[in-house]
Amino acid sequence: MALSKLDNLYREIILDHSSHPHNHGELADANTNIEANNPTCGDVIKLTLNVDGDVVKAIKFDGHGCSISTASASMMTDLMVGKSKDEAYALIDDFLEVVKGGEGKIEDGLGDAEILSGVAKFPARIKCATLAWKALEQALFTEKDVEINHQPHSADDFGDE
Ligand code: ZN
Repeated sequence: MALSKLDNLYREIILDHSSHPHNHGELADANTNIEANNPTCGDVIKLTLNVDGDVVKAIKFDGHGCSISTASASMMTDLMVGKSKDEAYALIDDFLEVVKGGEGKIEDGLGDAEILSGVAKFPARIKCATLAWKALEQALFTEKDVEINHQPHSADDFGDE
């Protein structure tokens, strides 16, 4: 695919998600919520989730931010409905790798969010793209869970500029 075409597709999908975000608003029957922000850009996000045992039954996001952070939250929430904590963690892990320019391990796992691999070319925007995903990680896993089961993703992974 020609680079210009790829860029057009990238813009179109991001614009579509940011102007008509999916799962936008606040979940009425939430039992978990978290707020996160990206001071570099001014993005603020609030996630409300209904977690039943090990499964993300529903998730919504609210807040305000740039088109990349909004599109990314829209894509993330689409993906996570019905996922177990372990599946969610694997997707978060893949996504954080892909936006740094790496390869995802789960084939077709990221859906539309795969398109955000384009931000690897714009390091200043990586935090916009990862905000919602890191917020979800914090909401689903306590520090203790992360220590026992998972390698934590610290802010340092992405280097503060
Ligand atoms: Zn942003």
